[in-house]
Amino acid sequence: MDKYNLPVILLKGIVLLPQNTLKLEFNNKDTDTNVIDMSLLFHNGYILVVSEYSSSNTPKIGVLSKIENNIKLPNGNIRVDIVGLRRVKTLEFLNPTKIQEPLESIVCEIKLKQIDNEQIIINKLIKEIKSYTKNIPYISNSIISLIENEKSLDRLTDIVVPTLISSKDRILEYLNSIDPLKRGEMLLQDIYQEKEIFKIERNLDMRVKKEMDDTQKEFLLREKMKIIKEELGDTLNKENEIDNLRKKIDEINCPPKVKERLLLELKRYETSISASPETSIIRDYIEWLIALPWNSFTEDNKDLKQVRKILDESHYGLEEVKQRIIEYLAVKQMSKDAKSPIICLVGPPGVGKTSLAFSIAQSINRNFVKITVGGIRDEAEIIGHRKTYIGASPGRIISSMKKAKSSNPLFLIDEIDKMSSDYKGDPTSSLLSVLDPEQNKYFSDNYIEEEFDLSNVLFVLTANYIENIPEALKDRLEIIDVSGYTEFEKLDIATKHLLPKIIAKNGLRSDFITIKDDVILKIIRNYTKEAGVRELERQLDKIIRKVVTQILVNNIKINKINIDEKVLDRYLGKQKYKYNLKAKSQIGVVNGLAYTIYGGDILPIEVNYFKGKGQLILTGSLGDVMKESASIALSYLKSNYQKYNINYAKLIDNDIHIHVPEGAIKKDGPSAGIALTLAILSAVTNKKISSNLALTGEITLRGNVLAIGGLKEKTIGALRSGIKTIIIPSDNENDLIELPNEVKEKINFIKVKNFKEVYEVFINDK
Ligand code: ADP
Repeated sequence: MDKYNLPVILLKGIVLLPQNTLKLEFNNKDTDTNVIDMSLLFHNGYILVVSEYSSSNTPKIGVLSKIENNIKLPNGNIRVDIVGLRRVKTLEFLNPTKIQEPLESIVCEIKLKQIDNEQIIINKLIKEIKSYTKNIPYISNSIISLIENEKSLDRLTDIVVPTLISSKDRILEYLNSIDPLKRGEMLLQDIYQEKEIFKIERNLDMRVKKEMDDTQKEFLLREKMKIIKEELGDTLNKENEIDNLRKKIDEINCPPKVKERLLLELKRYETSISASPETSIIRDYIEWLIALPWNSFTEDNKDLKQVRKILDESHYGLEEVKQRIIEYLAVKQMSKDAKSPIICLVGPPGVGKTSLAFSIAQSINRNFVKITVGGIRDEAEIIGHRKTYIGASPGRIISSMKKAKSSNPLFLIDEIDKMSSDYKGDPTSSLLSVLDPEQNKYFSDNYIEEEFDLSNVLFVLTANYIENIPEALKDRLEIIDVSGYTEFEKLDIATKHLLPKIIAKNGLRSDFITIKDDVILKIIRNYTKEAGVRELERQLDKIIRKVVTQILVNNIKINKINIDEKVLDRYLGKQKYKYNLKAKSQIGVVNGLAYTIYGGDILPIEVNYFKGKGQLILTGSLGDVMKESASIALSYLKSNYQKYNINYAKLIDNDIHIHVPEGAIKKDGPSAGIALTLAILSAVTNKKISSNLALTGEITLRGNVLAIGGLKEKTIGALRSGIKTIIIPSDNENDLIELPNEVKEKINFIKVKNFKEVYEVFINDK
């Protein structure tokens, strides 16, 4: 057995195992610096490191080590790396009591026995070490790379122990255990134990933490649970929904192309992530496609007599419209391919355009939908926005078709004369593609993308003024005039239609309330000013509501109530309107006739003249066309002064002032031409004209009298104001047939072709 001397470093509180390196720094005056010197000078840097734990128990095992990297620091200290090589037995310490002297020892090598199945044990250990370092967070797993290919159990244990074992005493035990096998066992044991300890510690930790964080934890858990629930719920919901959608798609009777598209979109929906915005876009789209009435039709009522009966019951008059509808249905029955005509009802508000369209739908058993295009500027309102827009949706046509629930509804498009176009496109041309029977079979909405057949839809349009209907559209329409009603027609409508409707709506017996005709007429005359009956309906409704409220509030027991003139003030307030009643006959005053949104009215025209330069003064806020008519009237009389016995000087030495009172009436249009001319003539010839006479007709410079519009309304207004004779253009003769009977009966019409004929009437008027 080899023995040799070695200088000794005695470690206190630290253990150096073989395969490990110790970095030490010595003070210049330390004894140990001498030991380092001795080692370097006489022992090739070899040195014995002994770890002493208790001085009474002087260790028998030391570690043969080598000094490396001996560095002298600027402050005189020495820093060395001491690398542990192997265990040696210390046979003797040479000067243990002389503290100042360096220690020296006599050591001898230790011979290790061969270990059976060493590699198996090594592998097992490595495995355990790996799992240990993995599970325990505060142990670095860098040692794994050091031992991965280790073949010696002796070295393996020494490499890992300082890393894995924290107790210094235990490491010392490892040092003192010469047999690697024993150390291997110890290590396994320690690993198991450490793992156990860690587990317990962790549990303890968690319990402490749990108590500390209880409220916070509960909050977190609840939040998590909410999310989990939502997630689970969502996926469940989505699955259910997809099943439902698939079922609906299977059942839906739509063109094959649309079905294909639907299945494709459904697939996209299935694979999309719930939270993504795309998902709801796809779902909305699918729902739109499903909801459209692709091939669903209501069956038309073909009993034309019954249709007519229903229309007559719901609406008074409106002969032409009703007749036209019956014709349409008759043609349709003869030939299935007959294209739906596009009927356009033109007339002032409240004359029953919308409600009649609704009744038509009812009478022929079609569903009814309505859109208003008044004020629309953007064509997207009609044909929708592309899906790429945020919040995109179909246009009004497709949206209404969804509501219609059938592909052959009656589709009312209101106020087509109030559309306008701007930079966002022309809604008129979009509307044309909707109405045109050539195109509307393949109507395409930007959002829906798939073609939708509108060819079975019965379109009905409405407008207030024919002149404001876009020209391109007007060409395709069959215009039906629905003009205003006379007072007597209104009276009929009120008693036969409006009152029964209102009384029923208020849940009253049909004979509970009576209103005498003259009371209704008073309401028509003094509380409404309209061509239609909307305001009248509102006023009647107001009366009935007030009566009902009074009965309920005062708990009155009565069987019947009669509304007389006396209560009108109470229920409807002060009279709102007074119609122009014909004035006394005067020189220079003539009744023209006006046609306004409220219907017709007389329009007194006053003319005065006084010294001046032949100028024309016009007041009463006249429109441009009416101003022109006034100029034409004057010029005509100037150039024909002889014919009409006018003193020419009166025309050129005076200024002529024409005033048209009634500021509230819009005064424009050419139809006052002959009335203006006659008023000037009356003034300058000093001859009165009867106030029982009214005139309407355009005049040319040659004195020809041209046709005018709104004859019905004008004559109704004239009758109300007490006019007995009306001069009209011969060209309007055909319109006389359509005038209400009372007008025809009570008014004398004189048809004229030129102003000369008007003059005849004038001079013969006594
Ligand atoms: P418009 O569409 O021409 O503005 P509405 O259809 O809204 O007019 O009619 C207003 C009200 O007057 C409705 O309650 C309607 O029933 C009623 N009405 C209009 N004309 C008639 C009529 N000829 N017969 C019966 N009721 C009518």
